[in-house]
Amino acid sequence: MAPTDPLVRVDQVTRKFPLDHNTVTALDNVSLQIDAGEFLAISGPSGSGKSTLLNLIGCIDKPTSGRILIAGTDTSRLSPSQTSTLRRERIGFVFQTFNLIPVFTAAENVEYPLLVQGVSSSERRTRVAEALANVGLSARAQQRPDLLSGGERQRVAVARAIVHRPSLVLADEPTANLDTRNATQLIDLMRDLNRSLGLTFIFSTHDQRLLEHTPRIVRLTDGCIISDTHSESSEGARNEQVLTACVS
Ligand code: ADP
Repeated sequence: MAPTDPLVRVDQVTRKFPLDHNTVTALDNVSLQIDAGEFLAISGPSGSGKSTLLNLIGCIDKPTSGRILIAGTDTSRLSPSQTSTLRRERIGFVFQTFNLIPVFTAAENVEYPLLVQGVSSSERRTRVAEALANVGLSARAQQRPDLLSGGERQRVAVARAIVHRPSLVLADEPTANLDTRNATQLIDLMRDLNRSLGLTFIFSTHDQRLLEHTPRIVRLTDGCIISDTHSESSEGARNEQVLTACVS
Protein backbone atom coordinates (compact mmCIF):
# COMPACT_ATOMS: atom_id res chain seq x y z
CA MET A 1 0.00 0.00 0.00
CA ALA A 2 1.54 3.32 -1.08
CA PRO A 3 1.29 6.07 1.56
CA THR A 4 -1.17 7.93 -0.67
CA ASP A 5 -3.51 4.98 -1.24
CA PRO A 6 -6.85 5.15 0.55
CA LEU A 7 -7.76 2.01 2.52
CA VAL A 8 -10.82 1.49 0.30
CA ARG A 9 -11.34 2.81 -3.19
CA VAL A 10 -14.63 2.14 -4.93
CA ASP A 11 -14.10 3.14 -8.52
CA GLN A 12 -17.16 3.61 -10.78
CA VAL A 13 -18.83 0.49 -9.46
CA THR A 14 -22.09 -0.82 -10.85
CA ARG A 15 -23.77 -3.99 -9.57
CA LYS A 16 -26.72 -5.44 -11.41
CA PHE A 17 -28.67 -8.54 -10.41
CA PRO A 18 -30.78 -10.66 -12.72
CA LEU A 19 -34.43 -10.63 -11.67
CA ASP A 20 -37.00 -12.69 -13.59
CA HIS A 21 -36.42 -11.63 -17.20
CA ASN A 22 -35.04 -8.26 -16.15
CA THR A 23 -32.10 -6.78 -14.22
CA VAL A 24 -32.08 -4.73 -11.03
CA THR A 25 -29.37 -2.09 -10.72
CA ALA A 26 -28.48 -2.26 -7.03
CA LEU A 27 -25.52 0.16 -7.39
CA ASP A 28 -25.17 2.61 -10.23
CA ASN A 29 -21.67 3.94 -11.01
CA VAL A 30 -20.65 4.56 -7.40
CA SER A 31 -17.23 6.03 -6.54
CA LEU A 32 -15.95 6.49 -3.00
CA GLN A 33 -12.65 6.67 -1.12
CA ILE A 34 -12.25 5.78 2.55
CA ASP A 35 -9.03 6.43 4.44
CA ALA A 36 -7.56 4.26 7.19
CA GLY A 37 -8.93 5.32 10.58
CA GLU A 38 -12.27 6.67 9.31
CA PHE A 39 -15.64 6.01 11.00
CA LEU A 40 -18.21 6.08 8.26
CA ALA A 41 -21.93 5.36 8.01
CA ILE A 42 -23.70 4.33 4.84
CA SER A 43 -27.23 5.51 5.26
CA GLY A 44 -30.32 5.15 3.12
CA PRO A 45 -33.74 3.57 2.94
CA SER A 46 -34.29 -0.15 2.53
CA GLY A 47 -33.35 -1.24 -1.00
CA SER A 48 -31.00 1.71 -1.63
CA GLY A 49 -27.93 -0.53 -2.07
CA LYS A 50 -26.25 -0.43 1.38
CA SER A 51 -25.74 -4.20 1.75
CA THR A 52 -24.64 -4.52 -1.86
CA LEU A 53 -21.97 -1.86 -1.31
CA LEU A 54 -20.74 -3.46 1.93
CA ASN A 55 -20.65 -6.92 0.32
CA LEU A 56 -18.55 -5.54 -2.52
CA ILE A 57 -16.12 -3.74 -0.19
CA GLY A 58 -15.90 -6.94 1.90
CA CYS A 59 -15.08 -8.99 -1.24
CA ILE A 60 -18.12 -11.21 -0.64
CA ASP A 61 -19.46 -10.13 -4.04
CA LYS A 62 -17.99 -8.77 -7.29
CA PRO A 63 -19.01 -5.66 -9.25
CA THR A 64 -20.69 -6.00 -12.64
CA SER A 65 -18.37 -3.18 -13.74
CA GLY A 66 -15.85 -0.94 -12.00
CA ARG A 67 -13.19 -1.81 -9.44
CA ILE A 68 -12.76 -2.14 -5.69
CA LEU A 69 -9.24 -1.54 -4.33
CA ILE A 70 -8.33 -2.46 -0.77
CA ALA A 71 -5.09 -0.86 0.42
CA GLY A 72 -4.10 -0.34 -3.19
CA THR A 73 -4.83 -3.93 -4.27
CA ASP A 74 -7.28 -4.29 -7.14
CA THR A 75 -9.52 -7.05 -5.78
CA SER A 76 -10.70 -8.02 -9.27
CA ARG A 77 -7.19 -9.32 -9.96
CA LEU A 78 -7.13 -11.70 -6.96
CA SER A 79 -7.70 -15.45 -7.24
CA PRO A 80 -10.49 -16.95 -5.09
CA SER A 81 -7.94 -18.13 -2.50
CA GLN A 82 -6.18 -14.73 -2.41
CA THR A 83 -9.61 -13.11 -1.98
CA SER A 84 -10.49 -15.33 0.97
CA THR A 85 -7.09 -14.67 2.58
CA LEU A 86 -7.62 -10.90 2.20
CA ARG A 87 -11.10 -11.23 3.72
CA ARG A 88 -9.94 -13.44 6.59
CA GLU A 89 -6.87 -11.37 7.51
CA ARG A 90 -7.81 -7.77 6.75
CA ILE A 91 -11.56 -7.51 7.25
CA GLY A 92 -13.88 -8.10 10.22
CA PHE A 93 -17.63 -8.51 9.72
CA VAL A 94 -20.54 -7.73 12.04
CA PHE A 95 -23.97 -8.94 10.92
CA GLN A 96 -27.48 -7.77 11.66
CA THR A 97 -28.40 -11.17 13.14
CA PHE A 98 -25.19 -11.52 15.23
CA ASN A 99 -24.36 -14.93 13.61
CA LEU A 100 -22.87 -16.41 16.79
CA ILE A 101 -22.44 -20.17 17.10
CA PRO A 102 -25.05 -21.15 19.71
CA VAL A 103 -23.15 -24.08 21.27
CA PHE A 104 -19.98 -22.02 21.76
CA THR A 105 -19.35 -19.71 24.71
CA ALA A 106 -18.74 -16.01 24.08
CA ALA A 107 -14.98 -16.65 24.35
CA GLU A 108 -15.12 -19.61 21.93
CA ASN A 109 -17.08 -17.53 19.41
CA VAL A 110 -14.45 -14.79 19.58
CA GLU A 111 -11.64 -17.36 19.35
CA TYR A 112 -13.01 -19.01 16.21
CA PRO A 113 -11.43 -16.71 13.56
CA LEU A 114 -8.03 -17.18 15.24
CA LEU A 115 -8.42 -20.98 15.12
CA VAL A 116 -9.14 -20.72 11.39
CA GLN A 117 -5.97 -18.63 10.99
CA GLY A 118 -3.87 -21.17 12.91
CA VAL A 119 -2.90 -18.80 15.74
CA SER A 120 -1.24 -20.60 18.69
CA SER A 121 -3.36 -21.40 21.73
CA SER A 122 -1.50 -19.07 24.13
CA GLU A 123 -1.76 -16.18 21.66
CA ARG A 124 -5.44 -17.01 21.16
CA ARG A 125 -6.10 -16.84 24.90
CA THR A 126 -4.41 -13.43 25.17
CA ARG A 127 -6.18 -11.97 22.16
CA VAL A 128 -9.64 -13.29 23.11
CA ALA A 129 -9.28 -11.83 26.62
CA GLU A 130 -8.17 -8.52 25.11
CA ALA A 131 -11.06 -8.40 22.59
CA LEU A 132 -13.69 -9.24 25.22
CA ALA A 133 -12.21 -6.57 27.52
CA ASN A 134 -12.37 -4.08 24.64
CA VAL A 135 -16.14 -4.60 24.39
CA GLY A 136 -16.66 -4.69 28.18
CA LEU A 137 -17.62 -8.37 28.34
CA SER A 138 -14.76 -10.04 30.23
CA ALA A 139 -17.17 -11.17 32.94
CA ARG A 140 -19.46 -12.90 30.40
CA ALA A 141 -16.71 -14.85 28.59
CA GLN A 142 -18.02 -18.29 29.58
CA GLN A 143 -21.70 -17.64 28.77
CA ARG A 144 -23.39 -19.11 25.72
CA PRO A 145 -25.23 -16.65 23.45
CA ASP A 146 -28.71 -17.71 24.65
CA LEU A 147 -27.85 -16.41 28.13
CA LEU A 148 -26.71 -13.03 26.81
CA SER A 149 -28.91 -10.01 25.99
CA GLY A 150 -29.19 -8.81 22.37
CA GLY A 151 -26.82 -5.94 23.11
CA GLU A 152 -24.29 -8.32 24.70
CA ARG A 153 -24.51 -10.74 21.76
CA GLN A 154 -23.74 -7.96 19.31
CA ARG A 155 -20.78 -6.87 21.47
CA VAL A 156 -19.46 -10.47 21.30
CA ALA A 157 -19.85 -10.22 17.52
CA VAL A 158 -17.84 -6.98 17.54
CA ALA A 159 -15.12 -8.69 19.65
CA ARG A 160 -15.05 -11.54 17.10
CA ALA A 161 -14.76 -9.00 14.26
CA ILE A 162 -11.72 -7.26 15.80
CA VAL A 163 -9.87 -10.18 17.44
CA HIS A 164 -7.66 -10.85 14.40
CA ARG A 165 -6.70 -7.14 14.23
CA PRO A 166 -8.19 -6.36 10.84
CA SER A 167 -7.61 -3.09 8.97
CA LEU A 168 -11.33 -2.69 8.33
CA VAL A 169 -14.55 -3.63 10.13
CA LEU A 170 -17.76 -3.80 8.07
CA ALA A 171 -21.07 -3.85 9.91
CA ASP A 172 -24.28 -4.30 7.90
CA GLU A 173 -27.22 -2.86 9.87
CA PRO A 174 -25.60 -3.97 13.16
CA THR A 175 -28.32 -2.28 15.21
CA ALA A 176 -31.35 -3.61 13.31
CA ASN A 177 -32.20 -6.14 16.03
CA LEU A 178 -31.46 -3.87 19.00
CA ASP A 179 -33.65 -1.43 20.91
CA THR A 180 -32.72 2.26 20.72
CA ARG A 181 -30.66 2.26 23.93
CA ASN A 182 -28.59 -0.79 22.92
CA ALA A 183 -28.31 0.51 19.35
CA THR A 184 -26.87 3.83 20.55
CA GLN A 185 -24.50 2.00 22.90
CA LEU A 186 -23.28 -0.24 20.09
CA ILE A 187 -22.50 2.70 17.79
CA ASP A 188 -20.73 4.45 20.71
CA LEU A 189 -18.71 1.29 21.37
CA MET A 190 -17.64 1.03 17.72
CA ARG A 191 -16.70 4.73 17.75
CA ASP A 192 -14.61 4.21 20.93
CA LEU A 193 -12.79 1.28 19.29
CA ASN A 194 -12.26 3.40 16.17
CA ARG A 195 -10.63 6.09 18.29
CA SER A 196 -8.69 3.92 20.74
CA LEU A 197 -7.45 1.23 18.33
CA GLY A 198 -7.42 3.32 15.13
CA LEU A 199 -9.70 0.74 13.49
CA THR A 200 -11.62 1.76 10.38
CA PHE A 201 -15.37 1.11 10.66
CA ILE A 202 -17.94 1.23 7.88
CA PHE A 203 -21.49 0.49 9.03
CA SER A 204 -24.88 0.76 7.39
CA THR A 205 -28.12 1.95 8.91
CA HIS A 206 -31.48 3.29 7.85
CA ASP A 207 -31.92 4.89 11.29
CA GLN A 208 -31.02 8.61 11.14
CA ARG A 209 -31.17 8.90 14.95
CA LEU A 210 -27.94 6.88 15.23
CA LEU A 211 -25.89 9.24 13.12
CA GLU A 212 -25.61 12.25 15.41
CA HIS A 213 -21.96 11.64 16.34
CA THR A 214 -20.85 9.95 13.12
CA PRO A 215 -18.09 12.00 11.47
CA ARG A 216 -18.81 10.91 7.90
CA ILE A 217 -22.14 9.90 6.40
CA VAL A 218 -22.56 8.65 2.84
CA ARG A 219 -26.21 8.68 1.76
CA LEU A 220 -27.50 6.27 -0.87
CA THR A 221 -30.74 6.43 -2.80
CA ASP A 222 -31.67 4.04 -5.60
CA GLY A 223 -28.09 2.76 -5.85
CA CYS A 224 -26.48 6.21 -6.13
CA ILE A 225 -24.56 8.32 -3.61
CA ILE A 226 -26.63 11.46 -3.14
CA SER A 227 -24.44 13.09 -0.48
CA ASP A 228 -21.17 12.60 1.39
CA THR A 229 -21.08 14.57 4.63
CA HIS A 230 -18.03 15.17 6.83
CA SER A 231 -18.28 16.85 10.22
CA GLU A 232 -15.84 19.71 10.49
CA SER A 233 -15.61 19.96 14.25
CA SER A 234 -16.58 18.28 17.47
CA GLU A 235 -19.57 20.65 17.66
CA GLY A 236 -20.94 18.78 14.67
CA ALA A 237 -20.76 21.49 11.99
CA ARG A 238 -21.00 19.54 8.77
CA ASN A 239 -19.51 19.95 5.36
CA GLU A 240 -21.95 18.34 2.96
CA GLN A 241 -21.03 17.49 -0.57
CA VAL A 242 -24.29 16.98 -2.43
CA LEU A 243 -23.77 14.84 -5.48
CA THR A 244 -25.79 14.58 -8.62
CA ALA A 245 -28.65 12.23 -8.02
CA CYS A 246 -29.23 9.20 -10.26
CA VAL A 247 -30.04 10.21 -13.76
CA SER A 248 -30.85 6.80 -15.14
P1 ADP B 1 -30.28 -2.18 1.28
O1 ADP B 1 -29.17 -2.89 1.96
O2 ADP B 1 -30.10 -0.69 1.23
O3 ADP B 1 -31.63 -2.57 1.82
P2 ADP B 1 -29.66 -3.92 -0.97
O4 ADP B 1 -28.25 -3.67 -1.30
O5 ADP B 1 -29.98 -5.14 -0.16
O6 ADP B 1 -30.30 -2.62 -0.27
O7 ADP B 1 -30.51 -4.02 -2.32
C1 ADP B 1 -30.47 -3.02 -3.33
C2 ADP B 1 -31.35 -3.47 -4.47
O8 ADP B 1 -30.79 -4.62 -5.09
C3 ADP B 1 -32.76 -3.88 -4.05
O9 ADP B 1 -33.66 -3.52 -5.08
C4 ADP B 1 -32.66 -5.36 -3.92
O10 ADP B 1 -33.91 -5.98 -4.13
C5 ADP B 1 -31.69 -5.73 -5.05
N1 ADP B 1 -30.90 -6.93 -4.75
C6 ADP B 1 -29.95 -7.06 -3.79
N2 ADP B 1 -29.43 -8.30 -3.81
C7 ADP B 1 -30.06 -8.96 -4.81
C8 ADP B 1 -29.97 -10.29 -5.35
N3 ADP B 1 -29.10 -11.19 -4.86
N4 ADP B 1 -30.79 -10.63 -6.38
C9 ADP B 1 -31.67 -9.73 -6.91
N5 ADP B 1 -31.80 -8.46 -6.44
C10 ADP B 1 -31.01 -8.07 -5.42
